[in-house]
Amino acid sequence: MRKLIVANWKMNLSRQEGINLAQDLADALKDESKAQIIICPPFTHLAEVGSVLEGSKVALGAQDCAAAEKGAYTGQIAAKQLADFRVSAVILGHAERRSYCFETSAEIKQKAIQAQSAKLIPIICIGETESEKSAGQTTKVLKKQIEESCPNNDNVVLAYEPLWAIGTGRVPSPTEVAKIIDEIKKIKNVPVIYGGSVKTQSAKDFLHLENLDGILVGGAALKIETFLPIIKAI
Ligand code: PEP
Repeated sequence: MRKLIVANWKMNLSRQEGINLAQDLADALKDESKAQIIICPPFTHLAEVGSVLEGSKVALGAQDCAAAEKGAYTGQIAAKQLADFRVSAVILGHAERRSYCFETSAEIKQKAIQAQSAKLIPIICIGETESEKSAGQTTKVLKKQIEESCPNNDNVVLAYEPLWAIGTGRVPSPTEVAKIIDEIKKIKNVPVIYGGSVKTQSAKDFLHLENLDGILVGGAALKIETFLPIIKAI
C-alpha cells in the first residue's frame, strides 16, 4: 500500500482560500505517485474543492458524517450525501469531536458503518490523553476505543492521534510510534496512520517507519509552503 497522507483542515480557510490551496496542491502534485493524498475540507468547501481536484492525484475527504442513513437529523450530513460529492474517505471520532461534541465510540461505530455502506473509507481516530499515557494505560485505552468504535470488518483506517500531541508541537519519538503501531495492529490488523503536530522533520521520520501506513496532518496542511515539504518527505 502507498503511504497515505491525510490533511485535516478542521474549521479553517475561507471558501476562496480553500479553492486556492486545493488548486496549488493539484498543480504541485501532478506527478505524485509515492503517496495517496486526501484532503478533508469543511463541508461547505467540498463541492468547489472537489471540482478543483477532479482529474488530479489528490482525493477528497470529509471530517465527519451522520450516524444515521437519512431523515430528521437537523444539521447532520449523511455519508451517502458526501459520496455524491466524490468524497472517498471520512475522518471519524476525532479527539475534538469526542471532546467538544461528546461523541461516543458507539456513535462513531454507527458513523463508520454508514460510511462503509456509502463506499467511503472511515478513518477512525483513537488516542490516549497525557494522564493515561503517564499511568501506563495507552494500550488499554486504545484497545477499548478500537473495540468500541470499529465495525467488525477490516475496511477501515485507524488514525493514532495521542491527544497530548494534537496541535501542541509535541510528538512521540519514531520508536515510540512504531511500538504503539505494532500494538494497535495486534488488536486490529488494518492500516494505521499517525497524527499530532506532524511537521517536515517528523513526517520524514514517521513516513520511513515500515509498519506505519501514513500520517494525518492538521495545522501544517493549511499552507502549501508547509504541506508540500511534508508530502515530499517520503
Ligand atoms: C489533527 O488534529 O488531526 C492534527 C493532526 O492536528 P495537528 O497536526 O495540528 O496537531
